[in-house]
Amino acid sequence: MRVLHAAAEVFPLVKTGGLADVVAALPLALAEQGADIRLLLPGLPAVMDGVQGAKTVIDIGSCFGAMRVRLLLARMPRTKLPVYVVDAPYLYRREGSPYQTVAGQEWGDNLQRFALLGWVAAHLAAGDADPRWLPDVVHAHDWHAAMACAYMAEHAASPAATVFTVHNLAFQGLFPMHDWALLGMGSHLMSPAGLEFHGQLSFMKAGLKFADRITTVSPTYAREIATTEFGCGLDGVIRDRGAAVSGVINGIDTEIWNPASDSAIANRFDAERLAGKAECRRALQTELGLVREDSALLLTVISRLTAQKGLDLLLAALPDLVTQGVQFAVQGTGEPALEAAFRMAQQAHPGKVHMHLGYDEARAHRLVAGADVIAVPSRFEPCGLTQMYGLRYGTLPVVRRTGGLADTVADGSTGFLFDEATPAALRRAVERALLARRDPAAWTALQRRAMAQELSWKEPAQQYLRLYAEARGATGPA
Ligand code: ADP
Repeated sequence: MRVLHAAAEVFPLVKTGGLADVVAALPLALAEQGADIRLLLPGLPAVMDGVQGAKTVIDIGSCFGAMRVRLLLARMPRTKLPVYVVDAPYLYRREGSPYQTVAGQEWGDNLQRFALLGWVAAHLAAGDADPRWLPDVVHAHDWHAAMACAYMAEHAASPAATVFTVHNLAFQGLFPMHDWALLGMGSHLMSPAGLEFHGQLSFMKAGLKFADRITTVSPTYAREIATTEFGCGLDGVIRDRGAAVSGVINGIDTEIWNPASDSAIANRFDAERLAGKAECRRALQTELGLVREDSALLLTVISRLTAQKGLDLLLAALPDLVTQGVQFAVQGTGEPALEAAFRMAQQAHPGKVHMHLGYDEARAHRLVAGADVIAVPSRFEPCGLTQMYGLRYGTLPVVRRTGGLADTVADGSTGFLFDEATPAALRRAVERALLARRDPAAWTALQRRAMAQELSWKEPAQQYLRLYAEARGATGPA
């Protein structure tokens, strides 16, 4: 089976969140199961610089306001998977994130930038961009690639099926309706039954309306987004798709996140040799200037600092927890108010709270390896990856019972869950962890169960392959 994965980011070239990890690891896991996989990415500077052996497949000429657009075929640096790159210097070669300027403003031409990505995916599916490789399935990730589903449905020149994965429904790709003409899309779709969303134009709807199958990154989040509480105004559209919507839990890259071979950490360890983890813990306390107390519960957070992640709850519970013997090691970037609040917490509790403002992969490994617990108190969480890194390193997750957190952590067995999004509920869950750690044998048993959990991409990849077969069935004879 030939599958084209279209996405805006991929680890290690471009990453703003968990999406990049999925787009790196899932295609590889599918290829290991025998599928013929290619990626499609926008030619952002880090992609142009990072891919290997790029060759021009076709000169597309001018489109979406860009004068010179080419489709390249190259290989990913580590995995060597084939990757198509849309080289459109005018639209993509600029500093900043894939979605925003360095100053944090959405790019004014995101409509053109991401419509182009979907449009090229549709041409690959139709066979006129690269006749040597026709996908059976186009798998589009998030609103950035969602227009592939609409272009393919609209132009129907391709027998390929479409699968659309929602990694986070809160980011929707909304644009002014008056830019409709830029899309090259029939006006009959300018309505709520098409791409209109409350007077705006929604790329997310292109995926939700037109994909043959829709997935989200956990079964619980798949149920949640069909409700008004989590549906971001699209729950009705999602409910209408009925059984076409399902959840497949993300895996993690168990080679990169492996305490037995991780070169970024002070000491390697596994479930049978947890002494190495104690070394990592001591090394981390020293590195961060935290008091070297064995009785303290060392809690880490590695996260975007946004309202979604519930870190205001953690800040509210922090002073009380510090007096009870909890140490905090936080790493993240995001909303200035949260950054400032964590900085102030560090000043108020020297030796007990450490805040690192920044993005640092190697450091994230040291935090996960050295901490006792990892907190993810999210208000909503489509899947969440850091709690899974925690499980793999015997760093027990303290998480809110929502989305993928509810699907990956078992309360009292591999971690600690809480329900209400309140500081008190979070505090009680951390207190349960504090208490549990006073019994070393019981704590070790929890760690071993957590570390034994299957977290690789093998099973999720098999589920996606079944889904691809179903989606192809839905589009008629393959
Ligand atoms: P989201 O995609 O909502 O940001 P996830 O938990 O799905 O949340 O994925 C976040 C990914 O980004 C994880 O791989 C996590 O380790 C990483 N990450 C987030 N913030 C940082 C940071 N400051 N330093 C290093 N890695 C980070």
